[in-house]
Parts: sequence; structure tokens; C-alpha cells
Amino acid sequence: MTFRPIEEVMRLQSGRQSGRGRTALLALTGAVLVAICLVFTFVMAGWYRDVGRGLGASGESVAAAVAEEVDRNIELLDLALRALSQQWSKPDLQAMPTALRDRVLFDNAMRAPGFGNLLVLDRDGALVAHPPGTDPVSSRFGDRDYFRVHIAGGSVGLFVSKPFQSRLSGRWTLALSRRIDGPGGEFGGIVLGTLDLGYLAKLYKPLAIGPGSAVTLFRTDGTVITREPFVQADIRLWAGGGDAFNRMRSTHSGTFAGASPIDGEERIISYHRVGNLPLIQAVEITGEAAYADWWRRAVAVAGLLTLLCLGSMGLSLRLYREVGRRAIAEAELSRLAGTDALTGLANRRQFEAVLGRVWPRAAASGESLALLMIDADAFKAYNDLFGHQAGDGVLRAIAGRLDRVARDLGGLACRCGGEEFILLVPSVTEAGALATAEAARAGVEALALPHPRGVASVVTISVGVSMQRPAAGGTAEGALAEADAALYRAKAEGRNRCRGAPALDRAA
Ligand code: GH3
Ligand code: MG
Ligand code: MG
Repeated sequence: MTFRPIEEVMRLQSGRQSGRGRTALLALTGAVLVAICLVFTFVMAGWYRDVGRGLGASGESVAAAVAEEVDRNIELLDLALRALSQQWSKPDLQAMPTALRDRVLFDNAMRAPGFGNLLVLDRDGALVAHPPGTDPVSSRFGDRDYFRVHIAGGSVGLFVSKPFQSRLSGRWTLALSRRIDGPGGEFGGIVLGTLDLGYLAKLYKPLAIGPGSAVTLFRTDGTVITREPFVQADIRLWAGGGDAFNRMRSTHSGTFAGASPIDGEERIISYHRVGNLPLIQAVEITGEAAYADWWRRAVAVAGLLTLLCLGSMGLSLRLYREVGRRAIAEAELSRLAGTDALTGLANRRQFEAVLGRVWPRAAASGESLALLMIDADAFKAYNDLFGHQAGDGVLRAIAGRLDRVARDLGGLACRCGGEEFILLVPSVTEAGALATAEAARAGVEALALPHPRGVASVVTISVGVSMQRPAAGGTAEGALAEADAALYRAKAEGRNRCRGAPALDRAA
């Protein structure tokens, strides 16, 4: 049996549409929440990248600006050294008395903030000239890097020394030296100028690059010349060899995220070569403040979104429950609308809905459908005799019996009005249909409800049966009319009996 009319009743009454609606509601809510999370992640990730890019860009411009400033200062000092070297080479100057010579040499020499001593050393590294009034603590400098580097040849140009602590002032100092060529091009000593590294620190200090960040001037050989914030141990540190430093040395300028070559902290490192000098100006930005700001905003937005999500989840849940409640109410309403109040059987409306559904299915599957039209005999008389209320009780008893007969066969019993009932029974043979009718009739008779004016002194029913194969054609209305005619025959032939439609009787 591929269908059971009684199950069709269940389907008609169940809230399946609402169930689908509830699932769709949950799916939609889930999809919206996932979409919100994805958009949030996408926006915040983009924003995070922008923070990094912004830091890199500002680090790069700061590094370029500071490199230019350092280059300008060194260039000024170099100009002073060149002038000094030129003056020194003039023979008439050498002929002057020392005091006069030094005044000519140094009085007009260029001065600038951060400049320290200007000295002239001879070919042995001995001090031969210094500005009047200054008193260098040492007079021999032959062992110093800024001296020795020029002995070999004239290609060095301007030499930038390693930083050292001045013996005179105790301040960290950088020496710049140039070779003096003798009359025959031979080594004739050097001119030397010093730059106070404290002056560079003053340049670095006002840079607003945030706490935890650092500005460092390197020599290309990896020597740290100075760093702000200043830590004495960092100076003279050799920072070469590492990935970060090699990267800085390999190109003129750039920005990358990596471990600081000094303290290993992860920072965004921007660097810029200082003019044509063997110096690299680096700016390391932690971005802590910028990323902390990002985090603050991310947490705030995430908090708001979480509230929004919780709110919409709460709303969806309420809607979900409401839809569920409505589904139950609708199912109950639908059940009530399809149920006969007196007997609890399906009513005519429900019956027609079920017949409308099973008829085409039976037509498709080739199965049979039996329609049993039933009417209580002499019921008006029963009411007259025992009263309407007692009559109602009898109708309930008849309904109970008919319902059992129908259910046993997967069929459906309905009260279609007054004391009239219809049984819809699927997949029975002609003989089976008549047997079902007889079972119904005998079942009611067996209730033995006294009816003195009835046809058998107990309550009885008459049954008209129509047996159809929807696949063979015909309509539900035709089947009902046939069953009605058969019932009419049963009534006419004496009541308390079953009669089939002519075709059924022939087949049985
Ligand atoms: P027949 O054997 O020809 O069917 O005779 P009948 O008296 O049963 O037929 P008729 O159609 O003349 O009367 C039907 C009666 O059924 C009329 C009415 O009093 C009774 N009836 C209809 N609905 C109800 C109901 O809901 N409750 C009760 N108690 N009686 C009802
Ligand atoms: Mg009647
Ligand atoms: Mg009747």
C-alpha cells in the first residue's frame, strides 16, 4: 500500500510548512552572522595592513629626512676640512710664525653647531696645527684609524671614523679626516674634524616616532655610530652580519618588518643611505601605539558586533519560538477545522481534502479506492423517542465503531453531516469492499443500542458501496454519487443492509 488516507490527514494537519520556515530562519540568521564575522575580519585585516603601511611610510620619510640632515652637517664639516687642507698646502702659510699661521688657518674656518676640533696632523700622526685657545690632550695620533687609513693611498676621500669618547670632553665623538697630499703627491698628513654625537642625538630626539622606537646611525661595516634612545653599550657595537643589516646594506633605502639588528625586537625598519657616505640612517618603529590603537578599535567594534549578533540571535530565537507556537496553533486550528466536534471524526471538509489528494495518487499507482456511504436508520424516530442528547450519544458510538473499521484498513472515517458517514478505504478488492461494508453494518448492530422503533429493535445503519480504480478513469464525484445511489437502494430495500453499486455487485 503506497498511501493511507489516514496519514494524509496527519500531513494536512502537521505544521511542515512552518517547520521549513523555522529551519530557513535559523539558516538565514546563521548566514547573516557568518557574513558579519567575515566582513569584520576582512575590514580589520585590511585596517591592520594599513597600519603597517602607514608606519612604514612615515618611517621611510623620517629616515630620508634625518639622513639628509646628517649628510648636510657632515658636508659642512667636510667643506671646512677641504678649505683647511687647501690653506695648509700653501707654501707662504708654512713660512708664517705658528701663532699667526694658526690664526689664518682657523679664524676663518667654518663653524657650525656640533662641530668639535679641527686639527692638522703631519705624516707621522703628530699634531702640527690646532685652533688657538684649544689644548688637545694628546699630540700623537699615529695609531688612530682616521690617520692610518690615509697612509696607503689617496683614494679614501672623506673618512668617517668609528665613534669614540673624546679624551678632552669625555663626549661621544665622530672623527672625519681627509688626506693632505705633499708637493709630489706623497702622503703629507691629514686634516681632521670632529663631530659631537650629542648633536646628532639632538636631531633625533624631537622625532615623534613613538615609545619603543629607535633611530640609529650605522657605518656600512656594521658599526653603530649613535642611537637614540642612547644606551652606551650600543655604541661601538658591531651590528653587521645579521639579515636585517645585510638588507639595509644592500640597497639605498627601504622598509621592512624584522628583528632589530641591535636588540632583536620586532619592528618596522626604514633605512636610508646618508648621501654618498658609508653611513646608513635607520629608523625602527615598534608600532606598539598604532597597533594598540588598532586593538582598542578592533575590540570595541568586536564588542559592538558581538552585542549585535547576540541581539539578532535573541530575536531570531524569539521568532523561532513564535513561529513554532504559531505552527502548533495553526496545526490545532487546522485539526479543529477538519474535525467533527461531536464525534471527533474527520468532517466533510477534511474528507474532501483527503479524497482530493489520494484520488490522483491512486490514479498514478493503479490502486483501488472504496467509498462507503452510511446513514443511520430511522434516526429521527430515535431522537423523537429518547431525545436529541441521547441521539448524540448514539452518533458518537456509531462513529467510534466506524472509525475502528476504517483504521484497521488504513482508511478514513468521516461524519459528513447529521447521521450520515463516509468511509474511504484504500486498496481493497470488490469483495473486500463489500466485506468492509458488512463489517461496519454488523459492528453497529453489535453495539446493541436499543431502538424500539428501529428496523431491528436496535440501532442500525444502511451502507452503499462504490468501488473505483481511479487509473481506469472516473471522478471522485462520480464515485460519491454511485455510493449514494447504492445507499438509497439499501434504504429502499429495507435498511440495515449493504448494497454495492451495480458494477461492484456484478464483480462480487
Ligand atoms: P432514514 O432511515 O430514512 O435515514 O430515516 P431517518 O429518520 O434517519 O432520516 P431523516 O433524514 O428523516 O432524519 C435524520 C435525522 O437525524 C433528523 C435529525 O433529528 C437527526 N439528526 C441529524 N443530526 C443530528 C445530530 O447532530 N444529533 C442528533 N441527535 N440527531 C441528529
Ligand atoms: Mg439521513
Ligand atoms: Mg437516516
